[in-house]
Amino acid sequence: LNRRLAEFGTTIFAEMSALAVRTGALNLGQGFPDADGPEEVREAAVRALREGRGNQYPPGPGVPELRQAVAAHQERFYGHLGVTCDPDREVLVTAGATEAIAASLLGLVEPGDEVIALEPYYDSYAASIAMAGGTRVPVTLRPGEDGAYHLDLDELRDAVTDRTRLLLLNSPHNPTGTVLRREELAAIAELCRERDLLAVTDEVYEHLVFDGEHLPLASFPGMRDRTVTISSAGKTFSFTGWKVGWVTGSAELVTAVRSAKQYLTFVSAGPFQYAVAEALALPDAYYTALREDLREKRDLLSQGLAEAGFGVFRPAGTYFVTADIRPLGAESGLDFCLGLPERCGVVAVPTQVFYDHQAAGAPYVRFAFCKRHDVLAEAARRLKGAG
Ligand code: PMP
Ligand code: GLN
Repeated sequence: LNRRLAEFGTTIFAEMSALAVRTGALNLGQGFPDADGPEEVREAAVRALREGRGNQYPPGPGVPELRQAVAAHQERFYGHLGVTCDPDREVLVTAGATEAIAASLLGLVEPGDEVIALEPYYDSYAASIAMAGGTRVPVTLRPGEDGAYHLDLDELRDAVTDRTRLLLLNSPHNPTGTVLRREELAAIAELCRERDLLAVTDEVYEHLVFDGEHLPLASFPGMRDRTVTISSAGKTFSFTGWKVGWVTGSAELVTAVRSAKQYLTFVSAGPFQYAVAEALALPDAYYTALREDLREKRDLLSQGLAEAGFGVFRPAGTYFVTADIRPLGAESGLDFCLGLPERCGVVAVPTQVFYDHQAAGAPYVRFAFCKRHDVLAEAARRLKGAG
């Protein structure tokens, strides 16, 4: 293993899911839904396979139907904020958001460039920055008295140097569940303009917002031409196994990302692209029902965790809830999570693995609530023995 990747080892998600399988524990670790997405979308994939649509290499930027559906989705949900894109030049289909992140960094970062990321961050960020030869500069989100995490804008400004190339952002934010507020996004946009920075913004949880609203960074003044926006069918349609994601942005930025993507995977799986095109066109009621179902699940698990004695950060978005284990007399989330399956038959993820400043994340653990009600209720019951 080369020096760039030596520090990364096996992803925490693979490790924790293996632990769940080994112990038979309820898996609230890795974030994947335990119920598949809409039947009609699965049928659309079967139809595409049967009819031979996408069984051979699809076009590099993605099939036109999906690129048009992505553009229509942007128009439908964010057109009133001025966000629109040209399906032919400003959309790129990727193998999930994971490839979109990697290809964005590989296409935009020069070796030695600094990339600022909000810590704790999704684990592929650090590895993708490293593969691109960049240097990661973490800016830490801090838990506040109000039970939410906050971005310190002064800290963010101070992190920018002459070598900073881009900000790698994520809102709604995994793992904290924070949704960046209008003022924060406006300040980030101002900083990008002032210091001439690009932004790569991972908005895969765009439809999973329970409090407040999701505002695309690209909708802020001056950001249209300096923002790469990423999303994925994994989260919005509960098909994490399909690995269909997409990038939108100016033709120039999308071309840079495509330059890298074409040598990573060349293209993404064809039949699923046709199915996701149909999924994106589902009526508003689908998106509302997804959000309302997850809101109930958030409340169910948050309440269960609070009753079990955890400190709970009720997430404004995503399908993760972060809990403080100190009220239970524990300090190390890592030790806590390693012992949790045996103590009470539940798997969670230690938040500290998403930090460079590991001490800042030590007493927190992340639970995924994209699971059936009965599973969450049973997990809440079991977690009463977590302390
Ligand atoms: N970004 C974030 C913040 C995520 O949580 C995930 C999924 N766990 C991804 C990217 C990856 O998405 P995909 O499965 O579409 O590659
Ligand atoms: N995004 C999911 C999570 O945060 C898992 C993705 C993965 O397993 N790589 O749990």
